Amino acid sequence: MTMEVESLTSHPRARRGSRKTRHTQNLFKNQVSKFDVVIIGAGAAGLMCALTAGQRGRRVLLIDHAKKVGEKIRISGGGRCNFTNLHTAPKNFISYNPHFCVSALNRFTQHDFISLMKKHQIAFHEKTLGQLFCDVSSQQIIEMLLRECAVGAVEIRLETAVTKIKKSETVFEIEVGSELIQSESLVIATGGLSIPKMGATGFGYDVARQFGLKVKQTIPALVPLTLEENILCETKNLSGVAVDAIVSCGKVSFREAILFTHRGLSGPAILQISSYWKHGEKIVINLLPEIDVFVRLQEAKKLQPRQELQSFFAQFLPKSLANFLTSRTNHSGNISHLSAKKIHEIADLVNRWSLIPSGTEGYAKAEVTSGGVDSDEISSKTFEAKLVPNLFFIGEVLDVTGWLGGFNFQWAWASGKAAGEWV
Ligand SMILES: Cc1cc2nc3c(=O)[nH]c(=O)nc-3n(C[C@H](O)[C@H](O)[C@H](O)COP(=O)(O)OP(=O)(O)OC[C@H]3O[C@@H](n4cnc5c(N)ncnc54)[C@H](O)[C@@H]3O)c2cc1C
Repeated sequence: MTMEVESLTSHPRARRGSRKTRHTQNLFKNQVSKFDVVIIGAGAAGLMCALTAGQRGRRVLLIDHAKKVGEKIRISGGGRCNFTNLHTAPKNFISYNPHFCVSALNRFTQHDFISLMKKHQIAFHEKTLGQLFCDVSSQQIIEMLLRECAVGAVEIRLETAVTKIKKSETVFEIEVGSELIQSESLVIATGGLSIPKMGATGFGYDVARQFGLKVKQTIPALVPLTLEENILCETKNLSGVAVDAIVSCGKVSFREAILFTHRGLSGPAILQISSYWKHGEKIVINLLPEIDVFVRLQEAKKLQPRQELQSFFAQFLPKSLANFLTSRTNHSGNISHLSAKKIHEIADLVNRWSLIPSGTEGYAKAEVTSGGVDSDEISSKTFEAKLVPNLFFIGEVLDVTGWLGGFNFQWAWASGKAAGEWV
């Protein structure tokens, strides 16, 4: 059986054929190169898979259409890459099949990646909640991965667009311009759709579909939420204000900072909840997690009845947010006149502010893509497609989405490592 995939989603900068082969394209017409393993996508997962397979003695070719490897590693964590999380566990991942990630995460843990960092003497620190960042620069991680790839004699071709993939009984045939590359194994590590201007494409999903594999619906995740114009005109003065809050969607809650923006809401707690939120659903925000406003306001009414509501809020919250909340209560004057019903209403507004976001800021601002290649189609041990021998999918292209905090890179390392041991 022969299967063909034609790529329609190549990076705008990618040329047909690698830098190395471009100038001699005609000479290479119909030339066939042979590798044991071809990996498409030189991001976190692709690099980890390449170095693992290369160090096993496999002849590995790593292809990317971007100018440089690991661009998302470079920009992540404000340039210091939140490369893993000390508390990584399967519960930190969202997937249609929550058990799928368990095996790979157990076989290559956060501590294994930390050992690699120590071997290369890259200094790092815990910022908060187990999140580990480089002390100096994320570029150190890219260089570390490239050094490890060099040990495994991995060949890397950048600015290279794959135009067609075919599979015969024994090999994959990958067309790169006029060159034909034959490989026993093919690994798809092209990531998700987030940040298209950095070269994100749906290439991996196209390959999966063309080989008959199911793809779970993709949506932007770890993404700021937008608000309707009628709420935005009330919150616009709050743009830039951040507070500690608990944000909930259904049964899921996160306690971290939220940030008001000119388009709606962002900050870690909002990004986290965005991965669970679906259009039309409400989110509930507790703006004062440490304070039961109902109890405090009743006490204040007895002890300081002349206090203005705005000053009551301003004890605990930034002034602009206190003003916003006061205007939302439609209450003027001091707190002595507040009825028990009104105190309930006010407490709900602060401890249980319920709102329906109008949407998200989309893939342009999303850190990751939720959904992707259906994990039911893939072996959780080898990452090989169950229906297509020697075709592997790793990293973000799969339907596995980590929380904010280093979990997505840990997934890329763990899945890349697992596949690298089998390809
Ligand atoms: C701004 C930002 C900050 C982030 N910060 C963190 C963080 O601090 N910690 C964390 O854990 N996660 C973070 N993430 C998420 C993390 O970057 C990804 O989950 C991770 O990079 C996924 O690894 P991957 O190898 O699967 O995909 P990617 O890293 O996206 O790599 C995919 C590669 O495939 C290439 N490619 C795509 N299409 C094609 C094609 N058609 N042909 C050839 N090559 C192709 C791309 O150029 C890219 O090099 C962040 C993401 C963003 C956008």
